[in-house]
Amino acid sequence: MSQEWNIKSRAHVCSVCEKPLLDRAPVISALRETPQGYERFDCHPECWKSQNRDWEPFSLWDGVYLAPVKEERKEALKKEDAGEILRKLITLDDPAMKNVVYVLAVMLERSKILVERDSKSLEDGTIRRIYEDKKNGDTFIILDPRIRLENLAEVQQQVVALLSGTKSFGEVANEEQANEEQGTQEESQEGTQELGEIQAD
Ligand SMILES: [Zn+2]
Repeated sequence: MSQEWNIKSRAHVCSVCEKPLLDRAPVISALRETPQGYERFDCHPECWKSQNRDWEPFSLWDGVYLAPVKEERKEALKKEDAGEILRKLITLDDPAMKNVVYVLAVMLERSKILVERDSKSLEDGTIRRIYEDKKNGDTFIILDPRIRLENLAEVQQQVVALLSGTKSFGEVANEEQANEEQGTQEESQEGTQELGEIQAD
């Protein structure tokens, strides 16, 4: 099964000893590739070290567990919207949206909402980037579609249109599909923007 992207939530108890993870304490997170998809582990570092494993993690990183906090309303509403849109896109699992998903993830990283934890080159030559939501620890496994620079501005415009609500998911998906079939973009955007210029906030 080749999943192009995926969300895994951070656990609130240790995957090994099943005792609670403590607020602001170190946590080891790992992803295991299984035929059913990715399995996520969050453990006390000492539990991770002492656990007997007959498998190698797909990805492994050190983090800090933050206990869930009550949502602060209003502030950062837009940022949360962007995160929600990313979740929705991932749930839709539409291959036509692969560029949009990736550019949105990069924008959220630049806005310090996500942090890139790892990247993996797979045997089929594709790359998965593993992002973690800084606030709630959710993991997003995102296909890096290696967007060509001349297509970047167009994809950014689609993301901005989604964030501002001027285009629906369906409209963007159809346009992305059409672009893909066309192969190349006939209108090349003047002054291609750097990926970092547009922030989600
Ligand atoms: Zn433990």
